[in-house]
Amino acid sequence: MKALVLEQKDELSLRDFPAIDHAEQTLGPRDVRIKLHTVGICGSDVHYYTHGRIGPFVVEAPMILGHEASGTVIEVGDEVATLAVGDRVCMEPGIPDPNSRATRLGMYNVDPAVRFWATPPVHGILRPTCVHPEAFTFRLPDTVSFAEAAMVEPLAVGVHAATKARVKPGDVGVVLGAGPIGLVTALSALAAGCARVYVTDIAEPKLEIAAALSPAIVPVRAEGDALVSRVHADTDGWGADVVFEATGSPGAAAGVFAPLAPGGCVVMIGGQPEPISYDAGAAMVREARVENIFRYAHAFPRCVAMLGSGAIDVKPLITRTFGFDESVEAFEIAASAPPSDVKMQIELPQ
Ligand SMILES: [Zn+2]
Repeated sequence: MKALVLEQKDELSLRDFPAIDHAEQTLGPRDVRIKLHTVGICGSDVHYYTHGRIGPFVVEAPMILGHEASGTVIEVGDEVATLAVGDRVCMEPGIPDPNSRATRLGMYNVDPAVRFWATPPVHGILRPTCVHPEAFTFRLPDTVSFAEAAMVEPLAVGVHAATKARVKPGDVGVVLGAGPIGLVTALSALAAGCARVYVTDIAEPKLEIAAALSPAIVPVRAEGDALVSRVHADTDGWGADVVFEATGSPGAAAGVFAPLAPGGCVVMIGGQPEPISYDAGAAMVREARVENIFRYAHAFPRCVAMLGSGAIDVKPLITRTFGFDESVEAFEIAASAPPSDVKMQIELPQ
């Protein structure tokens, strides 16, 4: 079975990977075997490819990439009760220790023992099949395509961010960054009740995609104080109720309180590899609430439900699809960060 393997930094190959076939020969009683259909290319996959590490996670041995996935159940363990062969599903990539303190406290995403696909030393799922726990595998409504289902993983981040922000109907939101995470966050903030969401980025094509998502999305080019003056002009100088930081850029994060209204909330989403500084004085005079998120916890069922009902449409975010045999080329293109692409996906042969 061929897999997309990150051999080491800057070196990918599509090749057989007998170790994973061997490890997944048998199925646990509460596991399912899944034939992969669509896998999204995530910024983290690309970062491992171009840098060989993310913070403390270092690629020290060949690792299969990919963690945003959908597929079809082809085998079920003896005790599996909620899924059957033939079910179309998406999978949550992080499996916590069910007995850990974090899990028992309801925040399994911060369990230090979580095993997350394509995070060294755990292999990802750019391969024909995988074995996964029933509890982290979610059946899809007929109306949700495999491509949309592979967007549930990034969407879960946006839904978790909007949940942590405690968005109320009629709130004014701001999202810094129009990459995949910024845009799913804007969609989630609208689904949570925002009256409108200002989205800012330096890439004009991404802002065009953002603007086309909803009449309630206001694109603003990230240039000087354009965002702050626009938000202030539209809110009688009051500011936005919620600001989501989805760039991971220290410069953007430094100004995160500037567009925020008194009593508002900032949600830090973008990963910051180094310590950064922000304007604590600006936070203080607003009595700002600051939330941080790390992935998500039990957001997949909500995401699947919203895609199923049409409350959220992620299709416009999928800008390119590659065949599995074009995987290496797909990653090279993703690594060049084309300004007009949001999410690229890879389809496995069926
Ligand atoms: Zn991802």
